[in-house]
Amino acid sequence: MGTDLKKQNVSADYDVAIVGGGIAGSCAAAILKNTNIKSVLIDPNENMPVDFRCEKFDHKQMAIVERLGISEKIYKATTPIENIWIARNGKLVNKMVYPHYGFSYERVINAVRDYLDKPRDMILGKVKSVEQYEGFQKLVLADGREVSARLVILSNGLNPGIRKQLGVTQTMLSKNHEMAIGFDVEPETEGQFEFDSFTYWPEKASDKMAYFTIFKSADVFRVNMFGYWQKNDPVLQELIQDPVQCLAKLMPSLEGMVGRFKPVSRVHIRPVDLYQNHPSQCEGIVFVGDAYATSCPGAGTGTTKAMNDVDILCNRYIPEWLGSGKFGQSEIETFYQDLEKIQSDEVSLNEAYFLRSITLDKSIVWGARRWMRFFYHLGKSKIANMPILGNPEKGRAA
Ligand SMILES: Cc1cc2nc3c(=O)[nH]c(=O)nc-3n(C[C@H](O)[C@H](O)[C@H](O)COP(=O)(O)OP(=O)(O)OC[C@H]3O[C@@H](n4cnc5c(N)ncnc54)[C@H](O)[C@@H]3O)c2cc1C
Repeated sequence: MGTDLKKQNVSADYDVAIVGGGIAGSCAAAILKNTNIKSVLIDPNENMPVDFRCEKFDHKQMAIVERLGISEKIYKATTPIENIWIARNGKLVNKMVYPHYGFSYERVINAVRDYLDKPRDMILGKVKSVEQYEGFQKLVLADGREVSARLVILSNGLNPGIRKQLGVTQTMLSKNHEMAIGFDVEPETEGQFEFDSFTYWPEKASDKMAYFTIFKSADVFRVNMFGYWQKNDPVLQELIQDPVQCLAKLMPSLEGMVGRFKPVSRVHIRPVDLYQNHPSQCEGIVFVGDAYATSCPGAGTGTTKAMNDVDILCNRYIPEWLGSGKFGQSEIETFYQDLEKIQSDEVSLNEAYFLRSITLDKSIVWGARRWMRFFYHLGKSKIANMPILGNPEKGRAA
């Protein structure tokens, strides 16, 4: 790859074409829109359809959103969450103020895409293949249209089509790493839950559940639950058929803490693999977000990693490459070897393995770590509830 590029004496339609408009591609398009770089986003849908993906940002993720200059519309697309309750080992151990934001993935993506001038900045279509020429890339769409660009950002998520067509290899790090489960609920008693968000860390490693959370998202309460069941585990069947009974078995003290509630939507179950692609041989094509490497949903690092990728790429490297007119393997490699990018990817991977070990590992060391977290929250809660003279802010266990 990259050695026998075809020659064709034409100028490219765009400086940068972004293939796929999830969080990575839409953010890249929004960043480049504010520059004099001629870019376009290509995605099959003008508005992202409903998809079960990331549904919460914490304050660190919001800080990235602010840094990218897309916070105004994202704040409007999300629901602020403040009062959170934490249960560990079957006990309510903490009630605290910890600001974060609930949403449905498509609402946030569509908010980011609202920063674009459509239809000018967006082509609706599915890219079928990439043909590599000297100095530019030709994207062939499923309906036969062609788009050329000096540089391609590949942000097409989990779709393996273009990766395979380009001959990019993949290392499977952890097949069926985690199951992510999501559905809407409402309290059975009149009114609302008493919290904005409730998170339950399980009692026994043998339950295989990483954690369970209920949180506000627009006009519903959403359940997210993460665990390490195999696809044929009876727990998953039971969750689909009778979620309330299944949850009561996994968390006998749940109802006593949050009250009775009922599911009001279908239960979505998504198995997630952890893998890493190896695209550094590609000239003029950069892989970002899930197209580069996946993450563990329960660890909640995938969108951070995707936004960090495009922040570093679009603000640091693309202007430099366009200035020099060079997009060869060695230039593209500088992005994959960027220390901040490597650190962001490493944090994501380490968190994935940490969550798995703290959930499943029955050794004394990991058992002790689970208890340390329990006492940490219990201690924090006691401190938070102590009257603090002088500075009321200090009483908030954020
Ligand atoms: C169930 C679940 C829960 C998660 N929870 C969290 C969480 O709490 N916190 C967190 O940070 N992360 C979470 N993640 C991970 C996070 O959602 C992903 O890492 C992130 O959304 C990846 O974004 P992306 O832009 O790389 O890909 P995607 O969002 O998948 O976007 C890919 C885009 O490419 C388009 N596309 C595909 N093929 C083509 C093609 N050939 N031509 C043109 N367009 C194409 C698709 O239509 C889509 O719009 C979760 C993931 C899952 C599955």
